[in-house]
Amino acid sequence: MPLHDIKDKIAKAEKNAGRIAGSVTLIAVSKVQPNARVKAVLDEGHRVFGENKVQEAAAKWPDFRTQYDGIALHLIGPLQTNKTRQAMELADSIHTLDRPKLANTLARLAQEIGRCPELFIQVNTGEEEQKAGVMPADADSFIKECRSLDLPVQGLMCIPPVEEEASLHFALLAKIAERNGLDGLSMGMSSDFEKAIALGATHIRVGSAIFGERVAT
Ligand SMILES: *Cc1c(COP(=O)(O)O)cnc(C)c1O
Repeated sequence: MPLHDIKDKIAKAEKNAGRIAGSVTLIAVSKVQPNARVKAVLDEGHRVFGENKVQEAAAKWPDFRTQYDGIALHLIGPLQTNKTRQAMELADSIHTLDRPKLANTLARLAQEIGRCPELFIQVNTGEEEQKAGVMPADADSFIKECRSLDLPVQGLMCIPPVEEEASLHFALLAKIAERNGLDGLSMGMSSDFEKAIALGATHIRVGSAIFGERVAT
């Protein structure tokens, strides 16, 4: 789908939800996409992108940053503690803060480096065993813990279970954010971003709807 069609849909969803125009940030998820496709989207003027692997982000984005101004890179995939420094150097935002060990590492490195990307805490709203994220019941205390480490927590992120109604998970995430005074909500992908916007998403992560199906590598 052309980028401008996605942007039209976002604008319409914002309007339908009584939200301010432009209040939703579109993260174009470029993982596994050929550079030519990513370049085409950059050439259309889009500047906010998402990657789920540190290694892939490192291979692509420093180069693109030399060619285009104003790029914002969001890391949206699971983060290994030993890649934290590299992630912090590459990204403007990390959406997958999901455990105390990672929080402590981020806090220590933030002191050392003198800056920290904006952070989203991933919540495992579906309580799925194989999925990352803090359990909903542990979210309040983990948010407190991250704040006590002076981490710049901007909001919460979730990936709903594929077989369930996404809206229930978006609503749960919004509720946890609200009671903790957090404004950021990273939720909604290609198939459900309009629902996410209706429930308050501030950041939607859209891959295949923009770039087409991911090419296997
Ligand atoms: C790949 C990915 C997306 C984008 O998925 P699409 O269905 O292609 O829009 C969003 N969020 C995360 C965490 C992802 O890994």
